[in-house]
Amino acid sequence: MRTDTPVSVKLEEYTPYPFEIDQVSLDFSLEPSETRVKARMTVRRTQPGPLVLDGVKLKLNEIRLDGKTLGPDAYDLTDETLTIRAVPDAFVLETDVTINPSANTALSGLYISGGRFCSQCEATGFRHITYWPDRPDVMSRFHVRMDADKSKYPILLSNGTPGESGDHSDGRHYAEWDDPHPKPSYLFALCAGDYDVWRDTFTTMNGDHVDLGVYVDKGQAKSAEWAMESLKASMKWDEERFGRAYDLGVFNIVAVRDFNFGAMENKGLNIFNSAYVLASQESATDADFEAIESIVGHEYFHNWTGNRITCRDWFQLCLKEGLTVFRDQEFSSDLRSRPVQRIKDVMRLRARQFAEDAGPLAHPARPSKYGSIDNLYTGTVYEKGSELIRALTVFIGIDAFNKGMQIYFNEYDGTASTIEDFYSCFEKASGKDLSQFRLWYAQAGTPEVKVEESWDAASSTLTLTLSQKIPATPGQPTKQPVPIPLRTALLDGKGAHVGVEGWENGEGVIVLEDEKMTVDLKLTGTSDKPLLSINRQFSAPVRIDRELSNEALLELAAAETDPFNIWDNFQTLARTEIFRLLDNPQSPPDEALVGALGDAVRSNESDPAFAALLTALPDIGELFQHREPVDPAGLNDARKRLRKALGENLKADAERILAKPSPAPFKPNAEQAGIRALRSAMIGLTGALDTADASRKLKSLFDAASNMTESLACLRTLVPFETAERDEVIETFYETWKENPLVIDKWFAVQVGQGTADDARRLSQHPDFDLSNPNRVRSVAAAFSMTNLAAFHARDGEGHKVIGDIILEADKRNPALAARLLTSFEQWRKLEPVAKASAEKVLKDLQSQSLSKNASDILARALG
Ligand SMILES: [Zn+2]
Repeated sequence: MRTDTPVSVKLEEYTPYPFEIDQVSLDFSLEPSETRVKARMTVRRTQPGPLVLDGVKLKLNEIRLDGKTLGPDAYDLTDETLTIRAVPDAFVLETDVTINPSANTALSGLYISGGRFCSQCEATGFRHITYWPDRPDVMSRFHVRMDADKSKYPILLSNGTPGESGDHSDGRHYAEWDDPHPKPSYLFALCAGDYDVWRDTFTTMNGDHVDLGVYVDKGQAKSAEWAMESLKASMKWDEERFGRAYDLGVFNIVAVRDFNFGAMENKGLNIFNSAYVLASQESATDADFEAIESIVGHEYFHNWTGNRITCRDWFQLCLKEGLTVFRDQEFSSDLRSRPVQRIKDVMRLRARQFAEDAGPLAHPARPSKYGSIDNLYTGTVYEKGSELIRALTVFIGIDAFNKGMQIYFNEYDGTASTIEDFYSCFEKASGKDLSQFRLWYAQAGTPEVKVEESWDAASSTLTLTLSQKIPATPGQPTKQPVPIPLRTALLDGKGAHVGVEGWENGEGVIVLEDEKMTVDLKLTGTSDKPLLSINRQFSAPVRIDRELSNEALLELAAAETDPFNIWDNFQTLARTEIFRLLDNPQSPPDEALVGALGDAVRSNESDPAFAALLTALPDIGELFQHREPVDPAGLNDARKRLRKALGENLKADAERILAKPSPAPFKPNAEQAGIRALRSAMIGLTGALDTADASRKLKSLFDAASNMTESLACLRTLVPFETAERDEVIETFYETWKENPLVIDKWFAVQVGQGTADDARRLSQHPDFDLSNPNRVRSVAAAFSMTNLAAFHARDGEGHKVIGDIILEADKRNPALAARLLTSFEQWRKLEPVAKASAEKVLKDLQSQSLSKNASDILARALG
């Protein structure tokens, strides 16, 4: 058993680095198993103390201080640091190390993917490249020189703009890159190899010319076109929305097949998981096109929120991530449908972050300590971080928010900042004290807001009693109240807004700041008791608790004017109904609800993307959070019964919608994507009927499908069938796409997403399964354990075992990936006793093995 449980790093122990390094020159001689890295840094002391540099798995060849080679008695070397005891106040330090990129299976630092060099340095990869103070508050100007075999690595890329380049006589060549913007080491990037490139240009609002390039596998340049369009749209949007222009003459994106994350915002040289670059009509779904647009935007927007203004330390991670997710969500809302985007963002938040917040891995958006920094890239830091910015825009108003952002850009440019710095800008802009609002960042847990109404007809006043409670989370048994801005409207039964004193345009913002408050909403005219629409657009990331009967909720859903709340009211109704069906296995689904939901879908057909979302019942992960102990298989059966009833209600509509051809010629825009989303929803509901006829119908739809969205919808829907059509479709899909790894990832994912533990086991032994490729591992292990909870948590324990086995193997190569997969167990304590015991056994068996620091950190918290 591993005894060295990870040591915590604490926010309160932050001290500035005692040196500044104004400039660094890096010289790489690239060879897969023996790359030589020489660094030359200009160092200035700002405080007393020795010079401590981070470095892991580096072979030190030489150190020179002001030109003189240091003997071993001048420094201390450990597995993780190099300390030079006595240094002058200003000096030049030169180091010379050798690293082995081809042995780097953790994919952090410099490594090889598809025969090419690439790098990933966030959070602490740079220390695997050379000795350096590998922390975000040490910002330096980087000059990079690379040389490599020209035939194997004809293209050499790094941050900034290209400088001198040329050939050597021995078949090698070199290139220099210079980045004029000081940056922390986590933003360093290097790529070398043979690529095809899709090029374009952009002229900024300042009139500056920018050369754009998207580098991809040979023969795939055309598949980069959408990523390029998305990049240009991002550059334009950031100018128009936030007044921020790009600041270099070159912007490059490189697609990499083996990558632990979605993408990385390195200055001027973004490195992307190829899944978020490559897209063609035939091989990409609308969700892929949408994700590419959003992620290209996200990484580009980091240029201002992350790169030019970075984080002082990793505790401030949500300063760059939460803010940049907010920016990419706004970008997608402006390019596509705002209400649909909002619903999708909240679905992701509830599935990912609310679940995390309710389990043993719960932590504040700005944690006060961490065991392993790689494990902090969580739903809480990203999704909740974004929701807090959104709630801020409601709390202080959008004008003060916009003003505060400009203060932030102008006053903090070129610095490594904190949440306090950021909020000081909005205090200046709004004149409000935001110290209570900042408690949102310090406290974990999703606030629950109880809403009670009482109506006084005589005075035409609706009195609301609002109270908040934040559940206890690990290390935080008690909480203080936070300001909760609730967008509110009062409606009559026909959906007209009722006037309220002090409100404009039929809507107001009620801020619940204390544990409990009452607020009188006095109507400006006379009316019957109005209907209350609260937390419109999901203005605050809370759970709303209202005692409303099904009839009252249906009445409210019919009168609602806020699309988010229409959708959410049906989610609440469906959730209640699924639990009722679970408790009453003989009872048929409620006809009134099914009828109302069917009517809502039909009446919203003119907004097909929204109608498609209405057909989506709450998934098991969401239902999980409302019951304890939970039986996922039982929930899945109850959910299927309701879905089947909805499928029957919408059967004629599905036939009518699917009889029409899919939009042609194909365009990946929001309008067409909406139509295909509704068609895919109808494909799913056809499958919910679970008849032999449905199986034949799905097979013929699959054969006729002209785009990946619908092909995949048919495949996904057919997987649970036990028919010849199902087997044929699985086989045909594989044969058609076996040369395209991104599509085969989908093939794996839909099978385990709908299948059993046996399917997951069988597919993890498939010849195309590859432990060294994170996308492929996720397409089996994450798709099974994170989307198919009924099979993952099945009582026979096989689901837990198969994932435990994959984690153990993955951890030997790639600890960050293994730790991420382990989080799929985060809800284990909520399971019914049999599955709970099997999850605990797998976790304890894993804990008895020698695991990485990343995996040990998650295990200790999950079991703690
Ligand atoms: Zn990011």
